[in-house]
Formats: sequence, C-alpha cells, structure tokens
Amino acid sequence: MAAVEIIVTRESTDDDWMRKAACKGLTHLFFPSPAERPQARERREAAAREVCGSCVVNHICQGYARDNHEYGFWGGESEDERHAAGFRLIAPIGVRARNVG
Ligand code: SF4
Repeated sequence: MAAVEIIVTRESTDDDWMRKAACKGLTHLFFPSPAERPQARERREAAAREVCGSCVVNHICQGYARDNHEYGFWGGESEDERHAAGFRLIAPIGVRARNVG
C-alpha cells in the first residue's frame, strides 16, 4: 500500500493582519476583568492605547472592530469610543449607557 502524504495549509484569510498585532500576550489589557471599576478601566485602557500606538496594523484593527461590533479595546479605541463614533455595539452593557444619546 502506498503512503499518501496530505499537506494541509491554512488558506489566507482577512484576519492575517492579526499575526502582526502588538498586543499578543496582553489580553488582560484589552478586555476587562469581571466587575472592573471605572478607575481600573481607565488605567487598563491607557496602557492598551499605548500598545496600539506602536502597532503596525492599528488602522486595519480599528476598522475590523468597528465593522464587527467588537467588545474590548481594539485599534486604539475603547468600546465607548467606537460606540460614540457611530459603530454601535449590538448589546450595550453598563458603562456604554452613559454615552448613548
Ligand atoms: S491596534 Fe491595538 S488591539 Fe489592534 S492589533 Fe494592534 S495592538 Fe492589538
């Protein structure tokens, strides 16, 4: 019986830009812990914003998050900032209520 070699390759997708993300391994800065207090959120998001500021895929990331109504901090924007810019969250929760108007 002849051996059959199967080569599996991942097709290129639109999310290839994520491989260049400066935030790899820093998930704790980009998504809140449960019951995060406002002051802690400000500190976390300030740190995330610094990382995004040096990221080569910042613009692509921001567009992705806006188009997909993502939660968390993406492309230099918080959920609140995305929401206020007209890219509404599907299910606004808690703090987003103060920016809805
Ligand atoms: S812009 Fe920010 S959130 Fe987006 S990939 Fe870069 S570091 Fe991560």
